[in-house]
Amino acid sequence: MSPESILSYPFPVLPLAGRALAVAPGVHWLRMPLPFALNHINLWLLEDEGGWTIVDSGLGDAPTRALWGEFFATAAGEPPVRRVIVTHHHPDHAGNAGWLTQRFGVQLWISYSEFVSALAYREAVDGFSLAHRLVMFRRNGLPIEHIHKLKDRGNGYRSAVPEFPSAYRRLTDGLVIRIGARDWRVIMGYGHAPEHAALYCDELKVLIAGDMVLPKITTNVSVMSFEPEGNPLKQFLESLGRYGTLPADTLVLPSHGLPFAGLRERIAQLQEHHRLRLGELLEACEAPQSAADVIPTLFRRELDTQQLYFAMGEAMAHLHFLFEERRVSRTEDGDGVLRFVRA
Ligand SMILES: [Zn+2]
Repeated sequence: MSPESILSYPFPVLPLAGRALAVAPGVHWLRMPLPFALNHINLWLLEDEGGWTIVDSGLGDAPTRALWGEFFATAAGEPPVRRVIVTHHHPDHAGNAGWLTQRFGVQLWISYSEFVSALAYREAVDGFSLAHRLVMFRRNGLPIEHIHKLKDRGNGYRSAVPEFPSAYRRLTDGLVIRIGARDWRVIMGYGHAPEHAALYCDELKVLIAGDMVLPKITTNVSVMSFEPEGNPLKQFLESLGRYGTLPADTLVLPSHGLPFAGLRERIAQLQEHHRLRLGELLEACEAPQSAADVIPTLFRRELDTQQLYFAMGEAMAHLHFLFEERRVSRTEDGDGVLRFVRA
């Protein structure tokens, strides 16, 4: 069944560019552009004492900053920002964290792992560099011509996150933050980013889900080069189970797509999606397959360079899940490429 048929979308009309739209008492939706196939990100503004708490900040580029400027100019003068919360370090979420916190003299609230990840990616330190990632991709069968294409990307992280704070306030699992008149509880999730913070308000039954639960697309779950034996799909599926304990009528505010109701149904769909993919992958592994070999099994469409980059991480994540369950074994042939075959 398609997501549309089970989920309901109480706010089908998008907010205007640079304008916020109320989606719950004291909760406003701001939508920013992204120059990718995934063309937008949702940010959230929470009414706080004497200003706003901002949740996620958009890509650190000129179009997004112009829209932030428009928002501040039109939202009753220059409303003070009380704090900036970032769910995780990915550039569409963290891109303006430094710019906004500097502009308003406020603190960044983020988990430790995400704070350190942002710093590491900005500096492209060993293990976090594109070069390191490409070595892993090569070892997992990505042909050399694709490696060359990806190489041309450069340090995209730093250009999308041009500034970043040098200090932060730590978000931890279960932490309750008083924002305006309401309490919001941090629910950590894993598998998409090292320590992704979602926020849940019991009083409103609203979940700011970040990238952990999306209504239409599936969350990217990738093996990272600094954790080459990682099993992020297992972590992700376990995390989904935790959101599934929230009330059935929770309003979910995702980072991409429309706000929706039907959290439990969506979680069930996502679990089923990955179960089916794992089954198909297992069939494909009748003969030894590298991660690059199984990309067409997982993604039945043409992929651009950016999508190929994510697809490699995703293919590895699914293979590692099967490997840890001993449903496939791993071989290394003379060419140095890792291949997986049905056990
Ligand atoms: Zn993300």
